[in-house]
Amino acid sequence: MTTINNNYLKLKAGYLFPEIARRVKTYVEANPDAPIIKLGIGDVTEPLPEACRTAMIKAVEDMGDRASFKGYGPEQGYLWLREKIATQDFQARGCDIDASEIFISDGSKCDCGNILDIFGKDNTIAVTDPVYPVYVDTNVMAGHTGEAKDNGEYEGLVYLPINAENNFTAQIPDHKVDLIYLCFPNNPTGATATKEHLKAWVDYAQAHNSIILFDAAYEAFITDSTIPHSIYEIEGARDCAIEFRSFSKNAGFTGTRCALTVVPKTLTAKAADGSDVELWKLWNRRQSTKFNGVSYIIQRGAEAVYSEAGQAQTKALVSFYLENAKIICQELTSAGLQVYGGVNAPYVWVKTPNGLSSWEFFDKLLYNTNVVGTPGSGFGAAGEGYFRISAFNSRENVNEAMKRIREKFD
Ligand SMILES: *Cc1c(COP(=O)(O)O)cnc(C)c1O
Repeated sequence: MTTINNNYLKLKAGYLFPEIARRVKTYVEANPDAPIIKLGIGDVTEPLPEACRTAMIKAVEDMGDRASFKGYGPEQGYLWLREKIATQDFQARGCDIDASEIFISDGSKCDCGNILDIFGKDNTIAVTDPVYPVYVDTNVMAGHTGEAKDNGEYEGLVYLPINAENNFTAQIPDHKVDLIYLCFPNNPTGATATKEHLKAWVDYAQAHNSIILFDAAYEAFITDSTIPHSIYEIEGARDCAIEFRSFSKNAGFTGTRCALTVVPKTLTAKAADGSDVELWKLWNRRQSTKFNGVSYIIQRGAEAVYSEAGQAQTKALVSFYLENAKIICQELTSAGLQVYGGVNAPYVWVKTPNGLSSWEFFDKLLYNTNVVGTPGSGFGAAGEGYFRISAFNSRENVNEAMKRIREKFD
């Protein structure tokens, strides 16, 4: 008899985005001409930078010539790309990261899930609440949790609430956890972490032999020069942190697919016999076995991000979304709403007014203004009473959505 991975049955059925789609569909069926504007899902809308497109076209030409044709590339990614990342993203910010410690992949989402392959089943795992759902669901699938409780939390996970009272940065636990997921700038709250906050986490991780899984997918959106872009800007992080980065949000690669994971060679964890094992070796083995590298064409496109033109174009792209975020913050504030984030991140985190639940606010916004956002409660129990508005849209749609909220929300 064939059996299944029963952990999949623990996953909660009514996942956030399908439920949003269901409610929008119901509304549109009753109001077929409703001019819906979606400020919900965190996907980019603007075209790929020209530098990236040109590099990819050139790479396609390379593939058409026997002399420059490429078959399987290195599983870890081409060295010319890893070297640019090491020097421009890390060493330029004072991070002691070498090209050999960088692994190119086809996405941060998969890396965040796949990384669990190299860790034991008995680790205590901490996530913030609200949180990017991928961290939680991949741990459920891997059998690292118990069943789902009524409030949506899973047995066995440690939830660290983040809210306006703690400035959307979690209180460092007073007990030991082994793996900690941190995401800064944060999805969904748009919050950032100061150097002091990250230092407190690194100190905690060093004191408890824990490992931080640091998701820096939105680092390009940091405009405040005092905020760290990488966990490796903090002394000691090489010994306790893995960092995930992606070209999805800075260069619009959500449909193109390229990302990277940094596993420092100094990072170790315990084997069953008590010995220390280098995680780099395990991740390298894992990737070499289960992954065959990112397309040459795409890696050339990612490399172009580091050219002078690519830097200017990605900067302009990020500035465009940040300007959207600024407009959203200003307009919602003048509509009397309390907003957070949206300054060093493409997400605005709104406190629902008058004690409305996240879903009540969702319905009200949909019915009164035809604007779709994301209920905060979908990111975790502590997201209840909040709402996420994404800045990933055209200027026209952002302006129109804000106009409607100004005129018709109440
Ligand atoms: C968008 C996003 C990513 C990037 O995922 P890709 O698979 O590289 O597109 C990673 N983490 C968070 C929190 C994100 O929102």
